[in-house]
Amino acid sequence: MSALVPRSDFSLLSTNPNLVYLDSAATAQKPRAVLDAMNDFYETDYANPHRGAYALSARATERYASARGAVARFFGVGDEACVIFTRGTTDSLNMVASAWGRANLGAGDEVIVTGAEHHANFVPWQQIAIERGAQFTICPLAADGRADVEALATLVSGRTKVIAFNHVSNVLGAINPVSEIVAIARAVGALTVCDGAQAAPHMFVAFDALGVDFYAASAHKMLGPMGTGVLIGRREVLDAMPPYQTGGDMIAFVGDERTTWNVLPHRLEAGTPNVAGAVGLAAACDYLTAIGMDAVAAHERALVRLAYERVSALDDVRVHGPSGSERSGVLSFTVGDIHPHDLATLLDERGICIRAGHHCAQPLMRRLGVAATARASFYIYNDENDVDQLAEALESAKRVFAVA
Ligand code: PMP
Repeated sequence: MSALVPRSDFSLLSTNPNLVYLDSAATAQKPRAVLDAMNDFYETDYANPHRGAYALSARATERYASARGAVARFFGVGDEACVIFTRGTTDSLNMVASAWGRANLGAGDEVIVTGAEHHANFVPWQQIAIERGAQFTICPLAADGRADVEALATLVSGRTKVIAFNHVSNVLGAINPVSEIVAIARAVGALTVCDGAQAAPHMFVAFDALGVDFYAASAHKMLGPMGTGVLIGRREVLDAMPPYQTGGDMIAFVGDERTTWNVLPHRLEAGTPNVAGAVGLAAACDYLTAIGMDAVAAHERALVRLAYERVSALDDVRVHGPSGSERSGVLSFTVGDIHPHDLATLLDERGICIRAGHHCAQPLMRRLGVAATARASFYIYNDENDVDQLAEALESAKRVFAVA
């Protein structure tokens, strides 16, 4: 199985031909098309957008607006103003927890998250619940790491105001049943907040059809730049949400005593925006669309299935999460008593990049009964040879540590 895109599209990969990059769940490499688009903005249309009464500023404004349009199309969002540019998934989720949470949560209300959340979709909800005197409830997980929807259905009540959950787990690759969770939330009038950081890069996400109220993603995991992301929301909930930050660009009128707010999306984007970031994200969306998200998903599933078979066949290896065919392109495992950090260091000597640690998911680590795991993650530039190298390196690591 060859890679889905030529390695030569990615400068870093083509100048390091022996590098086996298996850490795309942490961040993806950048195709030249993304870097060129960002450079082109700086070289041809760079100025502060909005309010500039000169042509160059109007062009910068136009670049920003058309980036929003491209991102909205990629995420299946009909109303472009519902795409809010943020600094990334963490920023997006903090915006909802702070701005929506502070306005809508009170004593006796309940916030539910799953036990498999990244800290970015766990800690902000835990903290706002503490601040507002609301109850913070953790939904149990099914054996494969997805939210246990039967348990969730019995947990919710009229007091449940929001259910926050990941679309795809960054540790297990488990894909949550979004529509079932949405149905359970709607039955009690609760909002849904979906962390799409590990889904948006890897599968077609049609926000308008998904039914969630909020969706968050990071550009850097989907071939775009660091420091940019999106919060997508349904028009009614965004319109009702107070501003997250206040300052330039987000106001309509500033009086000495009171201020009124601009319309969406500006009301939720205070200050000079990261135009180059938005342009880069839009270029990444176009690059992925040209490949086709179904092809992206199929390629990764095939690779991860192969990796699952190869790695789980090794003695003393424990692979966490669903079976090979049911997961997105993430494989977390532990090898005997070898500390995942030692494993990652050993693999690095062979030019293989994997991640080791708690993956910003300590509550999940506790539920798995481990302190840390090693994680290999796959993307469009990986091929079968990468899987072979991973499996061979694990065999060799076992010999080095004399496990078996
Ligand atoms: N949620 C999930 C599921 C993630 O994998 C990550 C990144 N590891 C985040 C949230 C946070 O994303 P960022 O660091 O880009 O804000």
